[in-house]
Amino acid sequence: MPTSLIIGAGMAGLTAARELARIGWTVTVLDKGRGVGGRMATRRIEQARADHGAQYFSAKTPEFQAYVQQFLTNGIVSEWPLPDTDHPRYVGRDGMSAVAKQLALDLDIRTGERAIKIETTDTGCRVLTDTGGRYEAGSLLVTIPVPQAQTLFNDSGFVLSEPEQAALAAVAYKPCLAVIVALNQPSRIPTPGVLRFEEGPIAWVADNQQKGISPNQPSVTIHASQAFSQAHLDDDLNAVGQGLIDRLPEFLPADAVATYQVHRWRYSQADQRHNEPFLRINAPIPLLIGGDGFGMGNVEGAFLSGYQMAHWLAQSA
Ligand SMILES: Cc1cc2nc3c(=O)[nH]c(=O)nc-3n(C[C@H](O)[C@H](O)[C@H](O)COP(=O)(O)OP(=O)(O)OC[C@H]3O[C@@H](n4cnc5c(N)ncnc54)[C@H](O)[C@@H]3O)c2cc1C
Repeated sequence: MPTSLIIGAGMAGLTAARELARIGWTVTVLDKGRGVGGRMATRRIEQARADHGAQYFSAKTPEFQAYVQQFLTNGIVSEWPLPDTDHPRYVGRDGMSAVAKQLALDLDIRTGERAIKIETTDTGCRVLTDTGGRYEAGSLLVTIPVPQAQTLFNDSGFVLSEPEQAALAAVAYKPCLAVIVALNQPSRIPTPGVLRFEEGPIAWVADNQQKGISPNQPSVTIHASQAFSQAHLDDDLNAVGQGLIDRLPEFLPADAVATYQVHRWRYSQADQRHNEPFLRINAPIPLLIGGDGFGMGNVEGAFLSGYQMAHWLAQSA
């Protein structure tokens, strides 16, 4: 039976794993995080829940629509009726990470395993992890943000061709500082619970209670703008969080804030992407790199990247 190792249990890696497992491949997914989902991330804060990475996703392509239809049927996702959109926006009903958890069901996923080196063997590849883990398979899919993949390739002594290096160097991600705030009373954000700002330090605010993912306690998610995030990426996070909250007094009165946490995303959304849904690295084994930096971008683009990588592997086996 063909085998594959996948580095990264975000949308791209999980989709690839599901598609390969569905046709009988033996697949192992490694992720450095404590759970699955990557940037489809949901956190508990007091009794509240908050999505601090991706806020919603589209499903414009038939491949993803088929998955999303299944998620709707299973009650995993629901539509978020945002104004000014020409196509439906979906959210995980228990947060975005619940979508990833659903995709991960019955797969062999090893969390807490950071890939630190890739070796080639006579029959395929071996991935070494920071816990001393050694995983082997006949093919490898790398679905981590490109700068992290470049570091992994360098540390593994890979010499990429000039076109490969150029393709990877052209992929870029914007940073984002995200604040999640637990409230002791509902926010004053008008229905349907979203604020968007074209200018200034804040780009986006979402009321997670109105969104439907935080029924037990109100909470909001604040995303700083790209310029602000870039300028303050390495600042003291608590001070950054308080400063951003203080800019929203009419929506978040000071006495409504119970507590808050700040997350630093060095790589949030890929704003410069490789045209194709994945890149094949010239190696003795099938070695593909994909994720949201390839193709359409965002959650749906990450899905399509994983989907296409799996189908390419299946056809080439
Ligand atoms: C703040 C923010 C807002 C966003 N808003 C939206 C939105 O509203 N709509 C939308 O569609 N998209 C949004 N996105 C983008 C979306 O979340 C991503 O495009 C998508 O989730 C990327 O999936 P992925 O599988 O390519 O990568 P990831 O989700 O990053 O998955 C990669 C995984 O690899 C793991 N990893 C990294 N290095 C290693 C290693 N060495 N060894 C093992 N594991 C490793 C990571 O832990 C991670 O789980 C947003 C992202 C952020 C951060």
